[in-house]
Amino acid sequence: MAGILFIISAPSGSGKSTLVSEVRRLVPGLEFSISYTTRAPRGSEEDGREYHFTDKPTFERMIANGEFLEYATVFGNHYYGTAVSALEHARAQGHDLLLDIDVQGALQVMKKVPEAVSIFILPPTPEVLEKRLRNRSQAEGVADEAEIEKRLSQARTELQQLQGYKYALVNDLLDQAASEMRAIVLAARNEGNVEDATLAATCSTSQHSARLDAALASFRAVD
Ligand code: ADP
Ligand code: 5GP
Repeated sequence: MAGILFIISAPSGSGKSTLVSEVRRLVPGLEFSISYTTRAPRGSEEDGREYHFTDKPTFERMIANGEFLEYATVFGNHYYGTAVSALEHARAQGHDLLLDIDVQGALQVMKKVPEAVSIFILPPTPEVLEKRLRNRSQAEGVADEAEIEKRLSQARTELQQLQGYKYALVNDLLDQAASEMRAIVLAARNEGNVEDATLAATCSTSQHSARLDAALASFRAVD
């Protein structure tokens, strides 16, 4: 089956971009929706590759013109949105489309496209998340402590939405998380074997795997 919409959400720094790149390498035919954002490019990001970087007046004009499938203000000050045209383009081509969007945007898409396959990615512990956020900002030459704190506290809020997703993945070991996400994609396409279907089922949010429960408990422990 082609034309499946996958919604991926994760607290910033969970490793979602890394995981998505790995899964796109493992599974052919997954188109990635390039969002619009008013935030500035980070590190080596390029306009039209990671995001369409735009200014606020342009973004607000696009909202007024009804050009977004969903949009949200993330971290208080920047707009992020998915253009309706991304979905139309993928559907016209019969391609599966992957949306990397925050929980607010995900809720909007789940309402509009109830058959979408939603996946929440979480880091194994808040300590690991903090380390990844710090490593990334050092690698990019920016050390914004306030921004890191904001993202850590936002992570706790976002985790409260996890049960609304169909699947949850703990991104501890990259290879394991990538195999799980690959299995979910193949299961949704009815292309996988029995092992893939079993692996996908263990990631269902209704299953409460030991790994998921441990990750959730570690975030609650420091509340
Ligand atoms: P996100 O897209 O969720 O904001 P990134 O993919 O940019 O996160 O990852 C944040 C940082 O964590 C990066 O430095 C990345 O290399 C690292 N990272 C991602 N996944 C893993 C993993 N499974 N194990 C260790 N480090 C990881
Ligand atoms: P970052 O600034 O780290 O690239 O992304 C910050 C957050 O914005 C992430 O949670 C990411 O999933 C989310 N995001 C990226 N694109 C979109 C989008 O088009 N819509 C919404 N709602 N969120 C997005």
